[in-house]
Amino acid sequence: MDTGKSNSDWSDAEIQAAVDAYLSMLSREQSGQKVNKAHENRVLRKGALAGRTKGSVEFRMQNISTVLIELGRDRIEGYKPAKNVGANVERSIREALNARSTLTPEDFAPTADEATLERRAVKLEKQQFKGEPKGIVEPEQIQTSGKSYVRDPEVRAWVRQEAKGICEGCGQPAPFEKDGRPFLEVHHVKHLAQEGSDRPSNAVALCPNCHRRCHHASDRDEFTASLYMKVERLKPE
Ligand SMILES: [Zn+2]
Ligand SMILES: [Zn+2]
Repeated sequence: MDTGKSNSDWSDAEIQAAVDAYLSMLSREQSGQKVNKAHENRVLRKGALAGRTKGSVEFRMQNISTVLIELGRDRIEGYKPAKNVGANVERSIREALNARSTLTPEDFAPTADEATLERRAVKLEKQQFKGEPKGIVEPEQIQTSGKSYVRDPEVRAWVRQEAKGICEGCGQPAPFEKDGRPFLEVHHVKHLAQEGSDRPSNAVALCPNCHRRCHHASDRDEFTASLYMKVERLKPE
């Protein structure tokens, strides 16, 4: 089969687009609707998968079937599982499936552990939010090796999603990417240590430069005041 461009160089975003299309077709098929796979293939190649061949997209769908079978999940009958799924592609498909379908209550749980908070926020960031998360009015301080605050991963995810890769301080695109996503840090305008809340109304997505500026610059108070002007959802506390 012609698999088009090399199959190892699909980006995570492309894999995610393929997985999203696959899951959408699967759920429509399961609810008894007719799905036109050739049409879906064309739509993908006009959008997220521009530059890929029909065969390449088809093959990727078959890869997704393979991974779903390994996970013991339902698949689309029309996409016969492909035998040779590369390790990188398989990992990427699993991550894309995870991002869409396996949110558990734990993923929403506030935590004071930075690594856990970030992992949960990254996962939640791939979701459609129903609305602005409520967050935490008085984040609790936990004594560990240092001191850290219990924070809501949904707030971090939502604020970054709102920013769409643009720093809310200077209006510039994030200066670099991390794991394929624009790198912006979520800053609490009234610091948590000053009893600021962990809510969207007190949190902004900033580039590292603007973030340092908020904490260390001689004009940090003026700069912070300008954030309240620029970002409508912010409410002084
Ligand atoms: Zn900035
Ligand atoms: Zn900060």
